Amino acid sequence: MKIIRSIDKMRRQTSFHRRKGQTIGFVPTMGYLHEGHFSLIRQARKDTDIVVVSVFVNSVQFGKGEDYKEYPRDLAADSVLCKKEGVDYLFYPSSKDMYPVKYATFVFVEGLTSGLCGKFRPGHFRGVATVVTKLFNIVRPDIAYFGRKDAQQAIVIRRMAEDLNMGVRVKVMPIIREDDGLAMSSRNVHLSSDERKKALALYQALQLAGNLIKSGGKDAGKIIREMRKVISPVAAKIDYMAIVDSRTLEDVKTIKGEVMAAVAVWIGGTRLIDNIIIRS
Ligand code: AMP
Repeated sequence: MKIIRSIDKMRRQTSFHRRKGQTIGFVPTMGYLHEGHFSLIRQARKDTDIVVVSVFVNSVQFGKGEDYKEYPRDLAADSVLCKKEGVDYLFYPSSKDMYPVKYATFVFVEGLTSGLCGKFRPGHFRGVATVVTKLFNIVRPDIAYFGRKDAQQAIVIRRMAEDLNMGVRVKVMPIIREDDGLAMSSRNVHLSSDERKKALALYQALQLAGNLIKSGGKDAGKIIREMRKVISPVAAKIDYMAIVDSRTLEDVKTIKGEVMAAVAVWIGGTRLIDNIIIRS
């Protein structure tokens, strides 16, 4: 495995492989890797000849007062893990190279970014779309892998890749959970043991929504009120609890077909998100 810091060098490496007719799979991450990331890497390893993982904590997608500085980082551990997973290239560009002083260009996906996390993290998806565009332009992958854990992000990126004719296939993989149901996240490391227990309420509330819908529940408002009963007692703050169309992300009032129940909840000082897809 090669560890690459230089943008030009990364571009040269993938061009080299492309010229040889090899396909390139790409897994963009912010590092502090866990099983959720590995599931994407393993899929890329299966699908493509060359696997590139990027580790870049993207300042542009964090708002003022968010956890850019506190975001966990451990490149040494990440590189050992990537090597074990058979990754070919670990790309970790510097912020200075990605966003030089005169940097002025941003990508904004309309509509899909206005609800859910977009509402509570203004500018977040503009930062995500921008960095993913840059990374796609550098790596030029055939297939890029994203987790449904960040469902809105995956949908936004898929739309962007299609709208801007990026020629990248976006593959979205299922959420990987701890044994007790907590969705894996690099941010879980910030949870105290008490908060770790409280965090289970997110998945419990989502499962409750799933059960209510599967047993005939149609009134989204009513279901959200039931979810609130599970989450309220443990949450420092609830950003949102929503039932949306799983493709358009628009709020659903009366449930029919496939919906996504999604939550963003502060447990202590840590903001956690989770979701499930429910077919009624
Ligand atoms: P991050 O490093 O948190 O920005 O995540 C990088 C990629 O891994 C994103 O596409 C995430 O959706 C995905 N990911 C993070 N956690 C999980 C998880 N628990 N299950 C599946 N994918 C995940």
